[in-house]
Amino acid sequence: MKRIRKITILGAPGAGKGTLIQKLGLNIPTISTSASLRAAAESSDKSSFFQDKDEGAINLKELMSSGQLVPNEIVQNVMKERLNKDDCKNGYLLDGFPRTLEQAKFMDENNLGLDLAILLDTKSETIIERMSGRRTCPTCGAVYNVNTDQKPKVDGKCDKCGADLIQRKDDDPEIVKKRLSVYDKDTRPVVDYYQKKGILKTIDGSKSLPDMVKDVLSLVNP
Ligand code: AMP
Repeated sequence: MKRIRKITILGAPGAGKGTLIQKLGLNIPTISTSASLRAAAESSDKSSFFQDKDEGAINLKELMSSGQLVPNEIVQNVMKERLNKDDCKNGYLLDGFPRTLEQAKFMDENNLGLDLAILLDTKSETIIERMSGRRTCPTCGAVYNVNTDQKPKVDGKCDKCGADLIQRKDDDPEIVKKRLSVYDKDTRPVVDYYQKKGILKTIDGSKSLPDMVKDVLSLVNP
């Protein structure tokens, strides 16, 4: 049986993708789109992605914290460059990409086509509860949740690096609503696209974390 190597996890913002991905322990790199975008915005070589170096970087950060999607062309360039790096040779697990139909088609047209798209299907009420409790580490990117069993060991501090945890600006309730409507409009078509291609598998996002991990692993290593 063919080994699955190029995977994406789809799901609404707050569906629990980040937490699930942290627990998977696959032997392929996880590529987070927002981390790649942030790195591109910080990079000294911004000119390859943005017409106006400094303006571009500032606008990109503003756009990301407003809950809107970054324009396809920018994300696609950032991801193409990232996925062509050596560590991605044997595959990757994508977090947050593709998020529009155009991005999904771009992947197929650029020899980056996926083997498996996993949809983490989580109800909106669960999402809103989870998002209000989400805390992230600004230093190492670890994700916690004060409303679930994913609390940090010491209140407000990252277990991994000890930094002070923050609540992301885009986890604010008004921004959450905006992000959920952006997801419905832009990312549902991606789910349909992979369904039609026959590579979509759905995981029940209301299950416990260990059960979801088991479900994903059985899809990845059937
Ligand atoms: P996330 O942490 O995955 O929710 O992403 C945070 C922000 O990064 C989003 O609100 C978008 O502005 C941007 N972003 C992440 N992935 C994508 C993508 N595939 N396409 C466009 N924008 C994205």
